[in-house]
Amino acid sequence: MPKIKKILIANRGEIALRIMRTLHEMGIISVAVFSDADRNSPHVSFADEAAYLGPSPSKESYLLQDKIIELSKALKVDAIHPGYGFLSENAAFAQKVQAAGIIFIGPSPTAIEIMGSKLAAKKAVSQYDIPLVPGTDEPISDLIEAKKIAKEVGYPILIKASAGGGGKGMRIVENEDEFEEQLQRAVSEAQSSFGDGAVFIEKYISSPRHIEIQILGDQHGNIVHLFERECSIQRRHQKVIEEAPSAIVTPSMRQKMGIAAINVAKACSYHGAGTVEFIVDEKLNFYFLEMNTRLQVEHPVTEFITGKDLVREQVLIAEGKTLSFNQEELSINGHAIETRVYAEDPQNNFLPDIGKLHTYKRPEGPGIRVDDGFEEGMDIPIYYDPMIAKLICFDEDREKCIEKMIRAINGYIITGIESTLPFAKYVMNHASFRSGEFDTKFIEKYFTPENLKTSFTNDEKAILAALSSFIIQQSSPQNQPLTQQQLKEKTNWTKRKKSG
Ligand code: ADP
Repeated sequence: MPKIKKILIANRGEIALRIMRTLHEMGIISVAVFSDADRNSPHVSFADEAAYLGPSPSKESYLLQDKIIELSKALKVDAIHPGYGFLSENAAFAQKVQAAGIIFIGPSPTAIEIMGSKLAAKKAVSQYDIPLVPGTDEPISDLIEAKKIAKEVGYPILIKASAGGGGKGMRIVENEDEFEEQLQRAVSEAQSSFGDGAVFIEKYISSPRHIEIQILGDQHGNIVHLFERECSIQRRHQKVIEEAPSAIVTPSMRQKMGIAAINVAKACSYHGAGTVEFIVDEKLNFYFLEMNTRLQVEHPVTEFITGKDLVREQVLIAEGKTLSFNQEELSINGHAIETRVYAEDPQNNFLPDIGKLHTYKRPEGPGIRVDDGFEEGMDIPIYYDPMIAKLICFDEDREKCIEKMIRAINGYIITGIESTLPFAKYVMNHASFRSGEFDTKFIEKYFTPENLKTSFTNDEKAILAALSSFIIQQSSPQNQPLTQQQLKEKTNWTKRKKSG
């Protein structure tokens, strides 16, 4: 069995750092790679070794497969961890890594290839009893035939790109009159964005929830599931807030979804960490959407409720070890919620708002985890995903966890850019989120920019940040303690600003 002593992380930002923390704990040497824009990033300084890839655009750095492999060979690494995004779901890359005699921390290239195509995935799982969204299981090739199927499925329908990802490559068709035009657009978009024009039809589930199951499989055929994550709070079909467990999943539904997820994994002889995504309708019927063959952004909520370190498990699986626990030994403990902190302006259609992090103060406390890759004063580069951090809270139940998340958001001070934090606070306080009765249409149904008008402007946040450090300084033992009256006045002011 190979012992992994050195790993190159073919990624950047929060996920590179998060992986390295576990490697550090396991006594494994970590190698960072970086582009020009990331030269001074925390993931580079944290790593034991670092190697330069190239200019800032991903195509000239983080996506350079051969360069990453060459560097890995030169630095004598045993394995490459791809993180998420970039090369993580690239079967050709996984293949090349293996051909170079290096371990790819992930499933086999074949499993990546099957699950990378939504149509191939549907086909692969067809021998197993896995519910699929009604629609076509072949690429649309004949307009008349496709229209007939769409009619049978019932409008509205979705035309989806088989190679689509990241919430892109989907078109809603409301009625037959629109079909042809939307089909043409979908095919040309699929071709230009993903290099594969194959599209298919799926029934459009009108008030769906997105619920996914985390799985872990070793190289000896043992597969377990680590329960669900609720990911229905989305913008542009992309997740912003996730939680585990889901407020609506019952033990029997959990068991059924868990078994279905394990079967999806079996259908492609999966090993490693993976996620099986389902869409759930109003009657709580669930349908297989796709499988992500990598670590997910939202994996920390699962780590909190199961007590397992998923990166550690990935490394052990890659070494060929047998899973050290079985399904019966896994249980859900407590509740976890993750807020993705994007450099986006929720008051302006969630458009990216990159710039300098003038103030950057993380919240702290028991059950609060911040996975990030930036420090105060740094610029958020324009070249990559605008996610700057993930704020994850854990408590014994959902109610307490929501309250903790609100306190943590209040204590998270970011100035210089707009972020999704005020939106997350709005969600946490919303009756529909509180009740657990919500779906992927949360923003459309309940959110308008006016909802955030009461939150702070950048200037106000800067004043607040300055004031809080003033209070801390003034209250420190070297300084004269504040009188009770002074303290009360200052705290009242802070409270008024926070609530107002
Ligand atoms: P991607 O690979 O781009 O992430 P998915 O198939 O996983 O695409 O879907 C992403 C999101 O799009 C889902 O979480 C859901 O919000 C929406 N979606 C996907 N399929 C359907 C469907 N059949 N009906 C309604 N919404 C859907």
